[in-house]
Amino acid sequence: MKAPICEICLNSDILCKVCQEKLDKRIINQSDIDISRAVYGLSKSLNILKDIEVKKVLETDNLAVIICKKGDASKLIGKDGVVARRLSKNIGKGIRVIEESNDLKEFIQNLIYPVPLLRINIVYLPDEKEVFKIVIPKEHKLQIDKATLSNLTYQMFGKESVVSKE
Ligand SMILES: [Zn+2]
Repeated sequence: MKAPICEICLNSDILCKVCQEKLDKRIINQSDIDISRAVYGLSKSLNILKDIEVKKVLETDNLAVIICKKGDASKLIGKDGVVARRLSKNIGKGIRVIEESNDLKEFIQNLIYPVPLLRINIVYLPDEKEVFKIVIPKEHKLQIDKATLSNLTYQMFGKESVVSKE
């Protein structure tokens, strides 16, 4: 398994010099470390996780979003969600697994799935702050809460977000 930290650090409670430096320079964050170690722990008993790659982890109080290499999401989720459920139990919060993409629209669509994304606009708030406006059909209800979504778009793309229905 590959992760933002090396295999030695995945298997240990401390960080090697190289990984510690990545953390100090904020190339990686504490969630990358904690959640990657949890996935690694599971990979010892689940062969399907042996070859996956965790690219990045974003975390809020109630949710961890694991961004993995293209093609690896189904392995991390498992049949009928069995792997994601075990992981969720181990870390004590919800899990979303999405495949890497620098595409804002694809990223948000993956986060709000199964709700369809109609479009994203940038809107300017009265204080001149720019935020993403995520537009979804009015008959749908988001499973991910709005504050979490906003936190995640900020961590990934530098702007908070609001949700609008039409
Ligand atoms: Zn290391």
